[in-house]
Amino acid sequence: MKKVYITMGPPGCGKGTQTAHLADFLKIPHIDTGALLRAEIAAETPDGIEAKRKIDKGQLVPPELVGRVIKNRLLEPDAKNGYILDGFPRSMEQTKILEQIQEEVGIEVQNIAFYFDIANEALIERLINRRSCPVCGRIYNIISKKPKIEGKCDVDGADLIQRSDDNEETAKLRFITYEEQTKPILDYFRGKGILHTINADQTIEAVWDDIKEFIVD
Ligand SMILES: [Zn+2]
Repeated sequence: MKKVYITMGPPGCGKGTQTAHLADFLKIPHIDTGALLRAEIAAETPDGIEAKRKIDKGQLVPPELVGRVIKNRLLEPDAKNGYILDGFPRSMEQTKILEQIQEEVGIEVQNIAFYFDIANEALIERLINRRSCPVCGRIYNIISKKPKIEGKCDVDGADLIQRSDDNEETAKLRFITYEEQTKPILDYFRGKGILHTINADQTIEAVWDDIKEFIVD
């Protein structure tokens, strides 16, 4: 049975860093749903064109479309030994779609979910301290992950910026929306005994140590 890891957590919880690390450690692909969709859009595939039309209208990309894109990715040879899903599922509807896709792909899998738990206040503090590079996209934190030269990207020296949506009000709203959508999935995974809650309000190294405890062979 192949292991499938599902990483979940509110925006800013550090999930991206840990997921990349996990993929590296386990030598299985990190399937980032957002990146998959962006690639479809860039390649102007029929799904990409439809997704872009929805996004341009400010609508959600239909879950069936996202499911189809993910299924195609799971059929690629490198996913045969397991994979890590990032950014999917985000609702109960998507959770059901995922189970259906996994059945259709036909590789017997065991899902293991990690939830990166962090208190609202800690998350907000993290978000308002966040700076990003407009050139390469690298993320910094003026408290915990400072650039070598204040205000400049380590890679390309560009001036770091604060994203306009990294303010307290927007952060709170994003957090509440995320919690509402995710809570039913967490309950569902917990009921199946496959949910591991990780304390995400620690250093990157400490979070990684906690994750390793739950990696099963
Ligand atoms: Zn940069």
